[in-house]
Amino acid sequence: MSAVQPGCLWVVATPIGHRDDLSARAIATLREVAVIAAEDTRHSRPLLVHHNIDTPLIALHDYNERDAVDAIVRRMAAGDSVALISDAGTPLISDPGFRLVRAARAAGIRCIPVPGACAAIAALSVAGLPSDRFVFEGFLPAKAAARRSRLQELAGDARTVIFYESSHRVAESLADMRDIFGATREAVLARELTKMFETVLGEPLAELAARVAADPDQQRGECVLLVAGRGEEADAKLAEGQRIFAILREELPPAKAAKMAAAITGAPRKLLYEG
Ligand code: SAM
Repeated sequence: MSAVQPGCLWVVATPIGHRDDLSARAIATLREVAVIAAEDTRHSRPLLVHHNIDTPLIALHDYNERDAVDAIVRRMAAGDSVALISDAGTPLISDPGFRLVRAARAAGIRCIPVPGACAAIAALSVAGLPSDRFVFEGFLPAKAAARRSRLQELAGDARTVIFYESSHRVAESLADMRDIFGATREAVLARELTKMFETVLGEPLAELAARVAADPDQQRGECVLLVAGRGEEADAKLAEGQRIFAILREELPPAKAAKMAAAITGAPRKLLYEG
């Protein structure tokens, strides 16, 4: 008997690199649904062929999602089962699918997750950073000013922060993180997970930023960046930085006082004074 019930939306995670990271349940679901809505049908076809899945594909990407959603919801309402996949990992996680899931739920259609790979979670599972509380920030803004201002907002967060980053911006982003979170904050670069050149580097931000800037090989492939939250030690450092800043501020211009207080205590200058 088929495990796939008609008229449902199956949200199916696919591998982030290694083709065998597709669960047995995902394979069965993708074989049995009436149609697979894929972010890029050409990209997904080799994976499906590898697993002997010949279900028809339709496209659902950022550019047509608004228009395609109504037709897919109508199909499910008429009894067809549909699977949603993205190019890699879990749909909707920095990937299309949000509008479809929302519209399906609004139409009373059951949405069923078929969980599997997700780069953020895979990276967190090997980073060795606190994982009891974390925040997923997805991609940082591409423009430097917007990126820095997003990082400022996160600098005081006590939770581990997870970012997706494109390889050609990873060095720049690490330099900004070093300046804003502080040179000593622990960070991890998880690159090419589950693939041939899988690399996981964990160091304080100053060292990691310098190593990545100096090595073009570390600026290739797909990357997840993780930064430890502001810890108790950092809190104490910041409190001391604020105390010294307040004293120096009596005699010096604020930017100079902040620079000196940061040099003396190791507290991030930008958390002492936003100049
Ligand atoms: N939906 C996917 C997921 O569940 O992880 C994420 C899709 S998002 C468009 C692509 C980004 O995920 C990449 O730019 C990179 O930051 C991260 N990523 C995907 N695969 C990865 C891998 N094998 N190793 C490291 N990062 C990866």
